[in-house]
Amino acid sequence: MRKVFEFDSPSGQYLADAAVLCCFDHRISLAVREFLKQQKIARVDMIVVAGGAKTLASPRNDFEQDFILEQVRMSIRLHGTKRVLVMSHSDCATYGGLAHFNGDRDAEAEHHRAELLRARDLLMTNFPNILVEPYFVKFDGVWQVNESGVLPMAIDDPRVMRSLEPPKQAGKYSRKR
Ligand SMILES: [Zn+2]
Repeated sequence: MRKVFEFDSPSGQYLADAAVLCCFDHRISLAVREFLKQQKIARVDMIVVAGGAKTLASPRNDFEQDFILEQVRMSIRLHGTKRVLVMSHSDCATYGGLAHFNGDRDAEAEHHRAELLRARDLLMTNFPNILVEPYFVKFDGVWQVNESGVLPMAIDDPRVMRSLEPPKQAGKYSRKR
């Protein structure tokens, strides 16, 4: 082997602040990185695949869903992950883009909200002890998803963190098992 790039990486073992499942679309990657920085999520296991949360909510096949669940399982086992952020984004090609919704951004957001909640529920069923947070990434920022709608993610709002506390449904899902 021949060294072609000089760079010192941290070599110690780590506990991950979170695992993040998001689309590989380059247009949203900077927004995701900046959002994670703002959330003080530094050590992150990135699971970057076409469609992001779609691979759990509306997988093309069983293999895709199983593969992603296994990635989350590995992150939990190897890096003690307790928090998983699931993301999808506007104009995602795996959904047929914004064109699939005839340019209707509200219809698109509503569709993604349902997708993200389905992805969250699947993760909570499989991993009852982790906190799962669904987010919709638009071209104007990152939107937090809840049962009743898509909320704007106000960067400096202290309520943002409070609203991310483990949802009460955690008990409901563990009882289901
Ligand atoms: Zn995409």
